[in-house]
Amino acid sequence: MQAETRTPPRIIAIANQKGGVGKTTTAINLGAALARAGHEVLLIDLDPQGNASTGLGMTSETRRLTTYDVLIEGTPLSKAIQPTAQERLGLVPATVDLSSADLELMGKQRRSFLLRSALAPVTRGELDVDYVLIDCPPSLSLLTLNAMVAAHAVLVPLQSEFFALEGLSQLMLSVREVRQTANPNLRIEGVLLTMHDTRNRLAQQVESDARETLGELVFQTVIPRNVRVSEAPSYALPVMDYDPTSKGALAYAALAEELRRNHTRVAA
Ligand code: ADP
Ligand code: MG
Repeated sequence: MQAETRTPPRIIAIANQKGGVGKTTTAINLGAALARAGHEVLLIDLDPQGNASTGLGMTSETRRLTTYDVLIEGTPLSKAIQPTAQERLGLVPATVDLSSADLELMGKQRRSFLLRSALAPVTRGELDVDYVLIDCPPSLSLLTLNAMVAAHAVLVPLQSEFFALEGLSQLMLSVREVRQTANPNLRIEGVLLTMHDTRNRLAQQVESDARETLGELVFQTVIPRNVRVSEAPSYALPVMDYDPTSKGALAYAALAEELRRNHTRVAA
């Protein structure tokens, strides 16, 4: 792809304070799908559990420099980026030491701006990156706040279950607060229905409620519950490498396409 035709880099925080809703799965597989579509993608693992890192085959020995070093020690982002098996998909891994970051950040001035500062080389176009995906921890902690302050947009995975929409209002409140203070242009990239089972009536109800309440904010693409998606990380692969024709792989490819379309529209 020629540099001239490139749109400015887009930084997307993948956030929901609920655990197990598909944040990490979406970070890995949307990242891989965008990379396969020819984009340079950087995945930042901002969860001390490091599931995105493990899911992309990063062992604790190979995680030399991590998001902890970037945020707390001031290590330049470019030094902490590791290649993955997927061409054009880079990763800044996380280890459990990130779990103390919340406390350590407390003492720092501009503690919500550390990730934004670390990403400045991306924003300035000094690194060859089209998309940054930030895999947030399952909380509205200072780490997630750093992601929202650094990002252009928040992508919200929503598991198709009964209380899904209730947790969403709390998240939207945080987004609004960040908008009013540190990051006025923060957008909602979209709400993504994950682990969807079309034959399940409750899942159908959640989908229609979400579309009714949130309208265009909900991605047209829905990620089905698919066993290949849950198996792929144990092979350290994105689902499209593990089983390219699986429903999960096709859905994440469609999501990447939808996101690119929206992005182009926003840039225009
Ligand atoms: P989070 O990062 O929000 O905590 P994960 O992405 O780790 O959530 O997903 C939680 C669990 O659900 C994981 O075991 C994952 O493999 C599984 N999972 C996620 N998406 C799907 C899907 N579309 N189909 C089947 N299992 C999924
Ligand atoms: Mg996760």
